[in-house]
Formats: sequence, structure tokens, C-alpha cells
Amino acid sequence: MVKLSISQSVAYNRNLKNVLPGGVHYSFRMPWESKQISLVRGRGSRVWDLDGNEYLDFFAKFGANILGHNNPEYNQALIDTLQRVSSANLGDIDAEAAEAVCAHIDSADMVRFSLSGTEAVQNALRLARGYTGRNRFVRFQGHYHGNADNTLGGRVGDLDHPVPEEDPGDLYSTEGKAAGVLKDQSFLIPWNDADLLESLLERSHEEIAALLMEPICINGGGLMPAAGYLERVRALCDRYGVVLIFDEVITGFRVGLGGAQRLLGVLPDLTTLGKAMAGGALPVSAIAGRREIMKLYENRKVVHGGTFNGYLLGLAAVKATIDLLARDGGRAYERMGEGMGRIHSALLGEAEKNGLALRMSGVPGAGVFSPAPSSADGPRAGMIAQYLGKMIGEAMTEHGILVSNANRLYGNISVDESDVELFQARVGDAFRQVGEFVAKMQGGPPAAAAATAS
Ligand code: PMP
Repeated sequence: MVKLSISQSVAYNRNLKNVLPGGVHYSFRMPWESKQISLVRGRGSRVWDLDGNEYLDFFAKFGANILGHNNPEYNQALIDTLQRVSSANLGDIDAEAAEAVCAHIDSADMVRFSLSGTEAVQNALRLARGYTGRNRFVRFQGHYHGNADNTLGGRVGDLDHPVPEEDPGDLYSTEGKAAGVLKDQSFLIPWNDADLLESLLERSHEEIAALLMEPICINGGGLMPAAGYLERVRALCDRYGVVLIFDEVITGFRVGLGGAQRLLGVLPDLTTLGKAMAGGALPVSAIAGRREIMKLYENRKVVHGGTFNGYLLGLAAVKATIDLLARDGGRAYERMGEGMGRIHSALLGEAEKNGLALRMSGVPGAGVFSPAPSSADGPRAGMIAQYLGKMIGEAMTEHGILVSNANRLYGNISVDESDVELFQARVGDAFRQVGEFVAKMQGGPPAAAAATAS
């Protein structure tokens, strides 16, 4: 299957830019959004557009869709809730939803719900500041924590004094930020360097309320923590009275029921959750953490607002999602791991056949693939690899595979044998197209053709 006909999607999208800036809902474009594909139907790992084209959906709404599309049990739980009561400040599933989160997130005694990951992170920072009486937090290069001024972008010149300044070349650089917000609120340092962190905390702990990190850095390219790094981070936070926040908005309920913290065996003080926790159709985020810190909400020492916090439909989605994920001792994750593992292997195998050197990072449920920069490309190697990555994402779209930005593949628990087979066939076609293009640019035959000829 090659070259989709998308005339109906294009016609539908023609006027969209008049009412929706850029014709999209945010600034981080997916490879397939340039094609203006409008999706109207889904089942399992597949979605269909207005023209009836079928895609494998490993974009999964930025990783939120962990169940696959149209899961009957999940849908029924939402319908049942809607048919009972439209809105209520407290209903009869609040305890079940909160207990489900606390049962699986090992560091969580209590939880507060909100809507977006951005919001959960900001509230976690407020809690940490309230708890410690300090102002700054430490951020790490390559980690993403949402759309707020104080976590977006920045660079540091001097690692001995890592106060971030605006970086106009950064993907997250934006006009309109409150002045001084990066500089006044955070330090920004490289991740996975425990000695550097130790010296920063030694010098500046009296002004540091929190350390904020993705325990597996999916946004930075699917990076795992170095051996022993998180253990040292934990010990340093204990030594200097700093609140450790794991931002598990992507990894929570995606890399396993217990999130990255269980997988890696290190517990934070606070965890932010979102995306997959509510199954993909509805926005629910959460701050989960140690009782002593969460209790600051009880005596109103720290304020937490939000009209839709703990809305019933969202709590029903959380409860139904966690029930589905936890069934049969979490077998769903094993199945997703098997299926996505085979998909990752197919991707790497087909790339190699077509002369493309790709590497895969991350975990089966959230894999990131990227072209390895080639030393033959000299000083422009990084740029060329980045361009190639973009081209590969677009070719995959043209061959019916949707991936998230920065070439992420988000799996879901419904992925099955037929999805793996379809992926293999389509990715082969996509990579042949890219391989032929690259070979033409380099003036030689494509690797696959050369291999067949010899
Ligand atoms: N934290 C992490 C690790 C994320 O990946 C994201 C979103 N990609 C956020 C926070 C922000 O979540 P939201 O987009 O729901 O505000």
C-alpha cells in the first residue's frame, strides 16, 4: 500500500486554518499533520481517515491511548457514568479511583486529580515549595514537563551557576513568556551526571525546593537513567531536604502498572501522572505522593484549585483503565511488550535491509527510533540525522503508520499478531522509499537492491 488518497481530508481541512491557528491544536507537529489527515474511526491499534484509509496508530494521542481504540469495557464504563449523573463535586467512585492509583504507584499514599500534565507539574512544584519554604527547582536538559513558562526551554552557559536563560534556537522557545521566569525559578543541568548534581546541591540546596525529572526520559529520546544514578539522586534529596518529583506523565501506567519508579526501584516523594492513566479518551492528571506532603492540602497551607478536578467521567475513566490494565496480574503489559518488541525488531530489521542505520531507545510501550549520525557526514552529521528522522516519519505516514513527534512509537494493550504483520509490510515499503532516496542523494544503488544483486 503506497501513497494514500486523502482528498476528503484535505477538503475538510481547507477552511480549518481560518478558525484554528495553523490548522492544528498545538505547536508540536506530528509528521502526518502536514498532510492534514482527519481521523474519524478507530478499533484496537487501527484508525481510519475521512477517505477510508487505514492506519496503524502508534501516535496514540501523545501516548495517552494505552487501551487501543474503542475498548468496549472502557466505553461502557463511561456511558454508565454519563447516564447516572452529569457532574458532581463528589460522587461514588472517588475513593475507588484514588485507591487504584495509590495501589499501584508505590510512593503514593494520597492523590489529587487535575486535568493536564502541565497543571499537575505546576501543582507539584507548589507543594514542594510549600513543604520546604524554598523557591527554586532543578530541571534537566532534554526533559519536558509541559506548557508552562517556567518549564519550557532554556539553556545554561555556566554549569557552575546553571541558571537558565532563553534559547532562541530551542524548539520550546516562545515569545510571550513572563520575564525572568526561567532565571528566577530553576536551575538547568544535564541528566545522568550525579557528581554535577551533588556539587549543585552542596552549594545551593538552601534555595532548592525540588528536583523535577522524567525517570525514563522519553522526551529526550527514550533515555534510561545510568546505573546507580537514581539511587544517588534519592540519597542526595534526602541529605539536602529536597523534594524529589518524578514526572511520570508519560511513563505512569505505560511502562507497567507501577510506572518507571517500580521498574527502576527508586521512589520519589511526589509523582505526576496523566495521559495513559485515564485510557486516552479523557484528560485526567494527578499528583500522587507521600502523606506528609499531600496533607499540606488538608490544612490549606497549600491551595489547589480546579473546576473539573476529580470530575466523575474522568474518575470513571481512571478506574476502568486501571482495572483493565491490572487484570490477570498485568498480563496486558506482557502482551503489549511482546507485540511492540516485535514491532521494534521489524523496524530495525527493515531499516537495515534498506541501508538505514537506526537505533531504538526507550521501552516497549514507548520506543523512540532515531537515525544514528554517521561520521561520514562530518560536522553536519547531527543535522542530517535529524532531517532523515523527519523524512522517515513522513514516509511512514504515507505508508499508513502514524508515529508521534520525534519518532516515538507508543504501543497499546490491544496490539496483536495482525498489527505486527501489517507493520512489518508497511515499514518495509516506507524504508525502501527512504533508502532509495538516500542512495540517490549519495549517488549509489540502494542497499537492498545492492544486496539482491550480489
Ligand atoms: N510531563 C511530561 C513528561 C510530558 O511528556 C508531558 C506532555 N507531553 C507533560 C508533562 C505535559 O502534559 P500535558 O500535555 O497533559 O499538559
